[in-house]
Amino acid sequence: MEKKEISILNIPFYNTSQAGFVDELYNDVRNGERKFVVTANPEIVMHASTDKDFEAVLRQADYIVPDGIGIIMASQKLGEPLKERVTGYDTMVGLLDKPIRCYFLGAKPEISQMVKVKVNEKYPQAEVCGVHHGYFDALESEKIAQEIMATDPDIIFVALGSPTQEKWIVSQISNFEKGVFIGVGGSFDVLTDNVKRAPKIWIKLRLEWVYRLLSNPSRWRRFFAIPQFMLAIRKESKRLKKGE
Ligand code: UDP
Repeated sequence: MEKKEISILNIPFYNTSQAGFVDELYNDVRNGERKFVVTANPEIVMHASTDKDFEAVLRQADYIVPDGIGIIMASQKLGEPLKERVTGYDTMVGLLDKPIRCYFLGAKPEISQMVKVKVNEKYPQAEVCGVHHGYFDALESEKIAQEIMATDPDIIFVALGSPTQEKWIVSQISNFEKGVFIGVGGSFDVLTDNVKRAPKIWIKLRLEWVYRLLSNPSRWRRFFAIPQFMLAIRKESKRLKKGE
């Protein structure tokens, strides 16, 4: 039988397809559930391996899905392949095709205003119950969470970048009775056409991360996590082969 969860360097990944995951979250919405979703890449896994507090944040997730191709390749190398990439962006647009009430927290003020216009235009089934930009200080978090709660959303898309978005969700979610909270990184910038997603062929060739690096070279520092991740996977694979 197919495994529902596959562990990569101690992080339990949810083994599902992109379409299946959108359906599952939509089902959670209809059942009025409260859920925390992490869309993880190798950087996040490496971060958790060196920062116990962040690892504890991830442990509170209801679903951790493989956003980066590096995670899929690692699962293959470790002999338990995950089905496919489940990205924050595709999950977000998949859900926007449904009749849901959604709140958008994150991105620069001008982009956050554009989100509302864009969603109304492109995804008329979804109802935008509110937006708030992502440049606020920690003291305002509580107040923003109260504002979000008052709008009664089914889904809260949180685009503050990792690890800020995951930490923000964990600090606020327990006050909510329901709501699917999902960290979606730079997705609002893409949704509003302010950042281009890699062309399909780059994604197919598993090179979306190279495209992102080339189009935004200031990200290079983050990509140091990739060779470290590959090394850790190689070690883990050797350990498994030895049957340790
Ligand atoms: N961002 C934010 N508040 C901050 C820092 C970042 O709202 O204090 C937003 C930023 O404008 C961008 C997103 O968070 O829209 C993060 O994008 P990035 O590509 O850095 O995140 P990743 O996808 O790598 O997690």
